[in-house]
Amino acid sequence: MRILLSNDDGYFAPGLAALAEGLAPLGEITVVAPERDRSGASNSLTLDRPLQLSRAHNGFLYVNGTPTDCIHMAVTGLLDFEPDVVVSGINNGSNMGDDTLYSGTVAAATEGYLLGVPSIAISLVGREFKHYASAARVARDLVARLARAPFGAPVLLNVNVPDVPYDTIAGFEVTRLGRRHKAQPVVAGKNPRGETVYWVGPAGAAREAGPGTDFHALERGAVSITPLQVDLTHPGQIPLVDEWMARP
Ligand code: MN
Repeated sequence: MRILLSNDDGYFAPGLAALAEGLAPLGEITVVAPERDRSGASNSLTLDRPLQLSRAHNGFLYVNGTPTDCIHMAVTGLLDFEPDVVVSGINNGSNMGDDTLYSGTVAAATEGYLLGVPSIAISLVGREFKHYASAARVARDLVARLARAPFGAPVLLNVNVPDVPYDTIAGFEVTRLGRRHKAQPVVAGKNPRGETVYWVGPAGAAREAGPGTDFHALERGAVSITPLQVDLTHPGQIPLVDEWMARP
């Protein structure tokens, strides 16, 4: 199996190394990852400057661009083969509910999916990030399953794994995305010149987190697997906007 890896935490991130190690028994691993932490980069492409490819001592390739750039470059020209699967992660921190819109981890997998390759984003949910090995084993379980039972169509799976020993994970649950409350306010501070600067504040707490959601699965200690799609159309509002446009 030919496995293409990326992430948004940068090519030096421990989660990426754990992922490469965990998937190595399943086939040939190629890593193309951003040269620095691009968490929150979403699906951005770099269009205003050239991208440069470098090779780290451990063989990982890295690019001075976004997670989306990495997968786009790899699949559309860099590699002389089409990967069988794209796996992005293991992210430091959850990507659940509305996080998926901002996430660079999910974006790298989305790019694989848009280019026709089954793709998996994998994130470790917690604060201490002790159990990358658990998420790596989950990734291996899923990629092995994909190899023996391929889907008929490209899939984009968003996977969140609790930061606990593998043997204590409370199973796997296929979920829908929950929703968060709106984000907390920006945090103002002063720079050394006395000018006001701002940090983007934390994401909101979980709001829609009932049974069947990713938040709920993680709350009970399970792995959450959410199949994602890219079409942002709100079909339910087509009649509403039609009616609104028909008004004088
Ligand atoms: Mn990240």
